Amino acid sequence: RARKRFGQNFLHDPHVIGRIVKAIAPKTTDVLVEIGPGLGALTEPVVAEAGKLTVVELDRDLAERLRQHPDMADKLTIYQADAMKFDFSQLVQPGQKLKVFGNLPYNISTPLLFHLFEFADQIDTMHFMLQKEVVDRMTAGHGSKAFGRLSVMTQYYCQAIPVVQVGPGAFKPAPKVDSAVVRLIPFNIADRAKVDPAVLNRVCLEAFNQRRKTLRNCFSNFATAEQLTALGIDPSLRPEQLSVAEFVRVAQWLAEQESANEP
Ligand code: SAM
Repeated sequence: RARKRFGQNFLHDPHVIGRIVKAIAPKTTDVLVEIGPGLGALTEPVVAEAGKLTVVELDRDLAERLRQHPDMADKLTIYQADAMKFDFSQLVQPGQKLKVFGNLPYNISTPLLFHLFEFADQIDTMHFMLQKEVVDRMTAGHGSKAFGRLSVMTQYYCQAIPVVQVGPGAFKPAPKVDSAVVRLIPFNIADRAKVDPAVLNRVCLEAFNQRRKTLRNCFSNFATAEQLTALGIDPSLRPEQLSVAEFVRVAQWLAEQESANEP
């Protein structure tokens, strides 16, 4: 029986499962990790192609079922653990990168994604089933209504591409919302702007807490209109009109100001 507090909606549509596995394209040389394997809807076909797989499952009973699974048990490394606190770097040797996937519990998807972004440098690709609305926000470009903190933080770390659309009927129990699978490809650290992600996140919080205000007002706690103009940013814009690169520029400037003001 599905546990609501663990966000359990199990995939059962073989066609949808097949499309997701095809998007993941598992290979025997991959270091694969699945978050929330549940009853194994994705686990089984991925293990069949990859030969081995690490899984992180919070639910003790489900983890135990996988430990007892007649066909899969010897091919799985099972962590009964909270993925939001899990140290994913322990799964890779130097020079290796992880391929992470999962049909995520929707109730914790944003904090879980933020936790995973901390391991971006150890990750090759991620494929996640999420609420479609969340995928829309992750992949939105500036200027669009869905553009917000999740868009900026996602696109700072990764290229984000929607790959499969999934209706509620593919799950048991059926969720109330449409779903989609997003592919996330972390940028190389050398290609990523040098900025403290915590400062970038703070700038986003200031900006998008007051969506309908202009940047002059959103950022009034730390920058004047003149300072924004000097950064090449028009203070009369609204936050969703600012590009990811411009958000990064504001965060870099803010971090410099703060370190200059330190005693
Ligand atoms: N992958 C399965 C499928 O597609 O049928 C199950 C998907 S279900 C939406 C989410 C799964 O994540 C459940 O098995 C749930 O127990 C597990 N889960 C929930 N919170 C978790 C957490 N914090 N860490 C790891 N797994 C979690």
